Amino acid sequence: MIITNDTERADLIEGGKRLAAVLEALRAKAAPGVTTEELDDLAERLIRDGGDGPCFLGYTPEGAGRPYPATLCVSINDEIVHGIPNESVKTLKEGDIVGLDLGLAHNGIIVDAAITVPIGNVDEGSKKLMRATEAALAAGIGAAVPGNHIGDISNAIQKEIEDAGFSVVKELGGHGVGERVHEEPFIPNYGRAGSGELLVEGMVLALEPISSAGKAAVILAPDGYTFRTKDGSRSAHFEHTILLEASGARIITA
Ligand code: MG
Repeated sequence: MIITNDTERADLIEGGKRLAAVLEALRAKAAPGVTTEELDDLAERLIRDGGDGPCFLGYTPEGAGRPYPATLCVSINDEIVHGIPNESVKTLKEGDIVGLDLGLAHNGIIVDAAITVPIGNVDEGSKKLMRATEAALAAGIGAAVPGNHIGDISNAIQKEIEDAGFSVVKELGGHGVGERVHEEPFIPNYGRAGSGELLVEGMVLALEPISSAGKAAVILAPDGYTFRTKDGSRSAHFEHTILLEASGARIITA
């Protein structure tokens, strides 16, 4: 969406603050022995306690065969995104890396964010993968300036991930957000600087670099949602909703 007035702007900012607080509670809860379903239950309860609504639950993304059945996406190790926490319930183990992706609607305005968290001690390669992917998000945000183009974001993200020796997952990417969970424009995590749609003040975007420690190829699980790396390598995912202001991007879900 494009923010056009102070009420929308205030609701966006408040929603982002709330979402960030829920994600921090989930980060604190994620530990060996905790199940994916417990994380999902906590996410839903915290969102509803705040008077807001989960916006992934019941949402059918383009191309999906059924509505998403949970509040939270929990994607472990070689699962890239959209792992369903309340169907084949998994228990987190020491050494896992776990992507937590969550959206909520506050006064009708939708915000979306994700973090990848280590469970206890994780190997150096996983730490490096998470650092590079988070750095790619920061680089993308840095390029999200009115007057730049979508391709500037894409290129900044790609460079950060590939310079660290990892692969960009090409099937998935960022998107407009605010009125709906997924809006135009699609924001690939790879591309040519200066290409694509012009960025303008007031745009609300969800940037979400998604990386693989190995090859970029993906497979979609029979549940119709869970994407995994084809070669079984680990994947990381970080996401913020941002608002484009005259001076640059304001991170809404920090
Ligand atoms: Mg998203």
